[in-house]
Amino acid sequence: MAITALMPVYPRCEVRPVRGEGVYLYGEDGTKYLDMAAGIAVNCLGHAHPVLTKAIAEQAATLMHVSNVYGSPQGEHLAQRLVDHSFADTVFFTNSGAEAVECAIKTARRYHFANGHAERHNLITFSNAFHGRTMGAISATNQAKMRDGFEPLLPGFKYAEFNDLAGALALIDDNTAGFLVEPIQGEGGIRVATPEFLQGLRKACDEHGLMLVLDEVQAGYGRTGKFFAHELYGITPDIMAAAKGIGGGFPLGACLATEEAAKGMVFGTHGSTYGGNPLAMAAGEAVLDVILDDGFFEHVTKMGERLRGALEQMIPNHDHLFEEVRGRGLMLGLKLKVDSRRFVAFLRDEHQLLTVAAGENIVRLLPPLVIDESHIAECVEKLSAAARVYVAASDD
Ligand SMILES: *Cc1c(COP(=O)(O)O)cnc(C)c1O
Repeated sequence: MAITALMPVYPRCEVRPVRGEGVYLYGEDGTKYLDMAAGIAVNCLGHAHPVLTKAIAEQAATLMHVSNVYGSPQGEHLAQRLVDHSFADTVFFTNSGAEAVECAIKTARRYHFANGHAERHNLITFSNAFHGRTMGAISATNQAKMRDGFEPLLPGFKYAEFNDLAGALALIDDNTAGFLVEPIQGEGGIRVATPEFLQGLRKACDEHGLMLVLDEVQAGYGRTGKFFAHELYGITPDIMAAAKGIGGGFPLGACLATEEAAKGMVFGTHGSTYGGNPLAMAAGEAVLDVILDDGFFEHVTKMGERLRGALEQMIPNHDHLFEEVRGRGLMLGLKLKVDSRRFVAFLRDEHQLLTVAAGENIVRLLPPLVIDESHIAECVEKLSAAARVYVAASDD
């Protein structure tokens, strides 16, 4: 047999981590890596954070899983904390980002159904969007690389250009349920929504009775220096998907909604066997304990500014390779003038620096939110060193 036991849908590589500590990962052979990828914006507390590991260990020894048919003191407590710190009135817990997006799509459709408008089932989504890999989530993006060969896709999505408010508004008709959008596109290339765009979508939703559904799976949970990225825009969504940082590495996601938006999600309409299990809730509580502590978001903002400043300073020295920095907080993208995938592999293999490639030739920097100045200095040193050699290599 030629196929690998692990289904070969990922390229994989020679970095084979077996241990993590803070902002560093250690490979099978002992190689130490500076982790500016954080499991793609997941390990917000870094690796093996004592608050998180202790909470998980203690909960695992107490109660790991029970059915959602029983009462959930753990789920109620975490949901209440999320409600207290966000626009939302209610929360559904999932095990992943894509499932949180699925719940968000269902909540939006069901809202109009509950209002007697089942025909309002179309969500307007945006170019280069990434919402996950379920059938619903791939139907919600226009990216061919995620959709090809999986047709027929789920009907009920229309696609507008990201940041083109007029184009999005022009798609509104009698069948529109609302908009599904990332405030900052991650996989699509750290593309930041303009204030006019996001505020304009909010206004259109208010005027037409539509749902503003935000996918904050990557941008949420402190990554931008705010608890949720929409706080940067002075707007709130009706429905929101969160995941990635929410469990700090433990599989957890959440769909948050206002009471009005969730009016269709009554008994029996949705569910999940594992969603909201006590172990996941313990991880979620531990993450909140750390990130809601005084000064944490300020730290993210400060480190984000430091990292951005250091990157911007470095660009002129390598301006044949680097173009610009974009993003917010610690969700930054370094735009290259060449293919970013090859450079990300070079950083990884030759300089032990872990980053993530994204669309539009972007090197994504999504470090643990607990990084300090020393990690930023180390990261920029590695980037500069790599840029110098990379040029030499490609000039040969
Ligand atoms: C990662 C991501 C998802 C999907 O999350 P999974 O946990 O992989 O299902 C959805 N939306 C955005 C914006 C993401 O970055």
